[in-house]
Amino acid sequence: MLATLRNNFIPLKVGVFVWRARRNRFPVLFELDKRGIDLHSVLCPLCDNSIETVEHTLFSCPKVWEIWDKVLKWWGINSSSYGRLSFDSLLRGESTLQCSIFSAKVWQAMMWTSFYLIWKNLNQKVFNNSSWSPLVALNDIQVESYEWVAERCKTKKIEWLDWLQNPSIFLL
Ligand SMILES: [Zn+2]
Repeated sequence: MLATLRNNFIPLKVGVFVWRARRNRFPVLFELDKRGIDLHSVLCPLCDNSIETVEHTLFSCPKVWEIWDKVLKWWGINSSSYGRLSFDSLLRGESTLQCSIFSAKVWQAMMWTSFYLIWKNLNQKVFNNSSWSPLVALNDIQVESYEWVAERCKTKKIEWLDWLQNPSIFLL
């Protein structure tokens, strides 16, 4: 388990983003409403069904869960086992596996990249009405996390095809 919110496999802005999300310093509708900003609705603009909290926006919204399901499958992980972790554990990038510090860092980097891209892209979707399908999302997460981790990891060479096809080898 990595206690720190710094992970040198990914850019600092991603760690800062996660830090803000953990403290609810985040412009989701529920938080804006609590601060007295007058809103038409606090419902999630993606599913129009639940209150838009940080947890909902980044994880449990059915539209977002479709992306997580693909991301977890890419790592060979049964997504239902992730339901047992608290949202804060997920945001900290904790893994359900016992693994080395290196592996924990790789996993955290991938999780944080996913949270970051989900926020960035779904935000754009809401404001620009652009579409970001779960498959495109998975591809973006694979490419961006690879570029960040492979470039910054000095101790091990990370091959793109391994990252894409069999990333669980980095969790051994
Ligand atoms: Zn939703």
